[in-house]
Amino acid sequence: MRLRCRCDFSIPIATEQGENDFEIIHHTSITDFCDRLAEAQRQAADDEDFRRRAVGVLLASRSPLLAGIECPNCGRLAIGRKDRPKIQMWFVREPGEADEAMPIRSLTTA
Ligand SMILES: [Zn+2]
Repeated sequence: MRLRCRCDFSIPIATEQGENDFEIIHHTSITDFCDRLAEAQRQAADDEDFRRRAVGVLLASRSPLLAGIECPNCGRLAIGRKDRPKIQMWFVREPGEADEAMPIRSLTTA
């Protein structure tokens, strides 16, 4: 599956562990997520069962999980609801204090 960026780059959309893909959780949902994950862990038969239940918890949240996909060509960020296939918003990257050429994932490493 691919997403066409407004710069015309064709962005691959990963089904798992995409280096340009992010899950965005609304701040007010964190406690709810933790409670549901704890319950999923209590009910899980093993690690694989917990992983499956955890994904279900994230996708079934009252406050829907958002998907963010960064274009590796221009740095635009596409945002959409995880439970809907359509992208709702595009954000254009502007220079920050760090190197403007760095991808978002560079912020996720120590
Ligand atoms: Zn782009």
